[in-house]
Amino acid sequence: MADPEAPLEMALAAHDLAADHFWSYMEDRSVRFLPQQLAPMFFSTLGRVVTGRGDPAGRRAALAVLGRMHRRFGLYPYHGTVVAAAMADTVRRFSGASWEPELATYWERGCRRAIRLAERAAEAMGDGPHVTVGEVVACDAAADDVAVLTVRPMRRLRYLPGQAMPVCTPRLPGQWRWYSPANAPRPDGTVDFHIRALADGAVSPVLVERVAPGELLWLGPAIDVGLSLEAAGEADLLLAAGGTGLAPMRALVEQVAASPINRRVTLVVGSRTLLDLYDAVALDELQQAHADWLTVVLAFSDDRDVEPAVQGDLLSVALYHHRAGQAFYVCGSPRLIEVARERLPVAGVAPDSLHLAATFQRALDSALWVSRQRSARAVEATLGLDTAAEGTGPDRTPRDAP
Ligand SMILES: Cc1cc2nc3c(=O)[nH]c(=O)nc-3n(C[C@H](O)[C@H](O)[C@H](O)COP(=O)(O)OP(=O)(O)OC[C@H]3O[C@@H](n4cnc5c(N)ncnc54)[C@H](O)[C@@H]3O)c2cc1C
Repeated sequence: MADPEAPLEMALAAHDLAADHFWSYMEDRSVRFLPQQLAPMFFSTLGRVVTGRGDPAGRRAALAVLGRMHRRFGLYPYHGTVVAAAMADTVRRFSGASWEPELATYWERGCRRAIRLAERAAEAMGDGPHVTVGEVVACDAAADDVAVLTVRPMRRLRYLPGQAMPVCTPRLPGQWRWYSPANAPRPDGTVDFHIRALADGAVSPVLVERVAPGELLWLGPAIDVGLSLEAAGEADLLLAAGGTGLAPMRALVEQVAASPINRRVTLVVGSRTLLDLYDAVALDELQQAHADWLTVVLAFSDDRDVEPAVQGDLLSVALYHHRAGQAFYVCGSPRLIEVARERLPVAGVAPDSLHLAATFQRALDSALWVSRQRSARAVEATLGLDTAAEGTGPDRTPRDAP
């Protein structure tokens, strides 16, 4: 069979036009669940889910977006046939010479399957924050390969510190990645994302090097990824952050600062060398502002020029500062999380005090994900972040992870 991805790439090269065609095709057949302004987001995300490329985390991010749109817009099973026909017709029309007739079946079947996955994602996620669009208002180069993007969402983002949300630049439509807000919700609604450009990455280099102030980003629903503070009760905290894993930890520190619960927090920030450490000034300010309960500790794994006290890998330094009764949070690269999962329990950290960020690389994360969404929804309801007032449908029982 001809390469099914080539026609999609061609359609996505003109994704606004293609999305208009997709939307009009459904409109002409009286299938009207999708607001026209969100058609590019829905069309490109659905298309990417059909082709099934990308790592598991990126696919899960795309399904979280489709799932939320499915639930919010009331996409019913009987819409599936027309949505699939609209997708096949759009891809055919925009694909030029790369189209082969047998691809129509691939696209229609794939689309119906993607919609079933979106339905399962919708059931697992229940109600919650909707997708939205945000304007990039600042891009600060925090280090050679790290940017802090400040985004002002069109509608206020609903999230708890420690959560992560799918983010997509329309420069790469449908390619969603998870990023964690680096601040607790602010009165002006802006959100900072810390993004490291991976040398071989598809999306992060574009976000760090090309996205500029004034551009729009698509923002998916924030979800609990295992770093919720509520799971720690009133315990003291040990927060171990590798690289841009610092982002959710900073948000948690801000949450502690605003909370009536008194607790001590040790924030251990790991990087390879001093030059790799980003956000050093902001860390210093954070330490100064909360010196009575916050201790910021640096850990350099591969820098012989720094003083011996700060030499060491992140987990070793964090373990040195570990005290009984602390809740121990770890966020960073997938590799760091895997090592922490094996090493910390052996080093004496009680499993129920260990909170590792989800990487979505393992099947286990799926099961945890579903139960976390349930408890996150309970916490949000307690905090008055419930979406009932926004007119969403009734809650349903999760059946499967997306
Ligand atoms: C819950 C969650 C929250 C996240 N929050 C942030 C954040 O706040 N800031 C941030 O910069 N990134 C964050 N990430 C990682 C982010 O989602 C992307 O995976 C990352 O930006 C790479 O995307 P890419 O398209 O450039 O690389 P891709 O083309 O998708 O992947 C390139 C390769 O790098 C691997 N990879 C993914 N993440 C990392 C990593 N951190 N270190 C080393 N290798 C990696 C992938 O598995 C893949 O093999 C988070 C991931 C998850 C699951």
